[in-house]
Amino acid sequence: MALLEFPLAPALRINLGKRAGVTGGLLGVLCVFAEFCFLFPHVLVSNDGRAFYVEHLGVFRGILQVSIVVTFLLGAFSVLTLRSKAHGVIAMVLAMVAMLLGGGEAEPLTHTPRAMSAGLDFFALDLLVLGLVFIPMERLWGLHEQRIFRPGWQTDLKHFFVSHVGVQLISFAVLIPVQVFLSWAVRMDFQQHVAAQPVWLQFFEILLVIDLVSYWVHRAFHKVPWLWNFHAIHHSPLHMDWLASSRSHVVDVLVNRFAGFVPVFLLGFHPSAIYGYLVFVSFHAVYIHANVNHRWPYLRWVFATPEFHHWHHTSDEEGIDKNFAVFLSFIDVIFGTAHQPAHWPSRYGTTQFQPPETYLGQLAYPFKRHEKTPYG
Ligand SMILES: [Zn+2]
Repeated sequence: MALLEFPLAPALRINLGKRAGVTGGLLGVLCVFAEFCFLFPHVLVSNDGRAFYVEHLGVFRGILQVSIVVTFLLGAFSVLTLRSKAHGVIAMVLAMVAMLLGGGEAEPLTHTPRAMSAGLDFFALDLLVLGLVFIPMERLWGLHEQRIFRPGWQTDLKHFFVSHVGVQLISFAVLIPVQVFLSWAVRMDFQQHVAAQPVWLQFFEILLVIDLVSYWVHRAFHKVPWLWNFHAIHHSPLHMDWLASSRSHVVDVLVNRFAGFVPVFLLGFHPSAIYGYLVFVSFHAVYIHANVNHRWPYLRWVFATPEFHHWHHTSDEEGIDKNFAVFLSFIDVIFGTAHQPAHWPSRYGTTQFQPPETYLGQLAYPFKRHEKTPYG
């Protein structure tokens, strides 16, 4: 097939064609996933999200329809601009499959929910929203020169997939043990007092309480050798960006959620404040890993910024075992572990043992013998 004569330099045309093909392919996968969510909501749609989707069905159908059209156009552009047609054709085929599965007229989610379901909806929507927010942000305020599809992105996407699709399983694995073993410690009158406070005040109280607990849990993950072997996975990316935030061993995720949930459960905050915290912190956690040059003068000593957390991920000697806080960076100032010099870190990753790059290799990594800990 003859390539279209776009008024573009050949290098730019190839570059744009590749990006269109890969982006179209990924968006196409999300569209097909979304169609599956409409077809099999009782298995694939998170129970928490179901009522919200049904209430705003027109909006979600519209998003799906637009995404399918964009997928097809990106694929077509890639096919017309590149000699290698694979990505473009895959994107176009995925768009057509999504249309055949129902397109924007997909059946409403009326099936009866089951007790446990996968969060495929959560995966597709969160990836779409985070990609739309953070990819342009990293283009506008990029810190390091690097590609969107930099080395290791497939592994990070697998971590992102598992943590989102398994969201309910992870939540149950944390909530049930806490409720079973700690219900004796609950004081109803005290909890009613806590939940009666203004929601915004409870939001800040949750931030403070969870951050104080997380700080010490995080520090333990760095200092206790066998714990470090789990946490090393999160420190293994050599490139920082929004997607690198999702790389964590599932044991690391479970322990952190457990440690954060215990004080929230005992204090009895109102669900609105807890949901507000979860939405806020999930965006913030992605932001501080992003490849952006935001420094937030002065405020960086109060809350965690990209600069603050990039120093936590560095393998430069001066930044080792610094900046443990999740959100409130002044906790590191209080405990003497804050480090934010005038320059940015030069490299990222672990210092001695680099975990493997494959997803399954990373899952198995903590269970294999390591003679020394990387920071030991
Ligand atoms: Zn760490």
